[in-house]
Amino acid sequence: MGVGLLVVIGKQGAGKGTQCSRLAERYHVPHVATGDMLRAAVRSGSDLGNRVRSIMDEGHLVPDDLITDVVAARLAEPDAAHGAVLDGYPRTQAQAIALEGIAAPRGIARCILLDVATDVVVRRLSARRVCSNCGWVFSADPPPGPSECTNCGGPVVQRADDTPEAIEERLLAYEQETAPLLEHYREAGILSIVDGDGTLDEVFEKLVAVVDAVHS
Ligand code: AMP
Repeated sequence: MGVGLLVVIGKQGAGKGTQCSRLAERYHVPHVATGDMLRAAVRSGSDLGNRVRSIMDEGHLVPDDLITDVVAARLAEPDAAHGAVLDGYPRTQAQAIALEGIAAPRGIARCILLDVATDVVVRRLSARRVCSNCGWVFSADPPPGPSECTNCGGPVVQRADDTPEAIEERLLAYEQETAPLLEHYREAGILSIVDGDGTLDEVFEKLVAVVDAVHS
């Protein structure tokens, strides 16, 4: 039956992208990362991309209906029939309600909070660099970090929303809009909290233990 729908929630910079992509690979389901999908739309210059570009650059959330349509369409694709790792959605109460409808009748298998302290994520986000071509993520800590992508050779840049102002805005949106969703998942009995501090491998093993426990 597959792993089902896994929702991973965490502050920006908690390591969601990296860990979700590894989880998706491990459980043979797609990694549905709304931020990545929107950035791809911006790069392609599509209608969607043009609508969301400035909203994203300022660190604000894009409208619920718009992102919900994107997620619903992606989860309706055949490769998501047995599950998906949802990274970056839901982020508001309206999105959480919409997801209940999209996920029915199987529902959400597990919601995992990847928990990292705010000062740690601010440090990580400020040092984050990405390949503007393939999206690989690098760190400029210690400075200066790579200028060329080791995956594709593309230019490595700072994300437009990793400026101090946009980081502050995004963390505020997380506290105000996203963190309150955790209570809903806790009450539903499907919330697990994983400490996101540690090496990539250590954190990944903890995530795998949580997901495996759902199906044992
Ligand atoms: P991320 O890469 O997850 O940090 O997302 C980057 C940006 O994409 C966010 O700051 C928002 O502008 C937008 N975004 C991604 N996912 C959502 C969502 N579920 N709801 C609203 N905006 C989103």
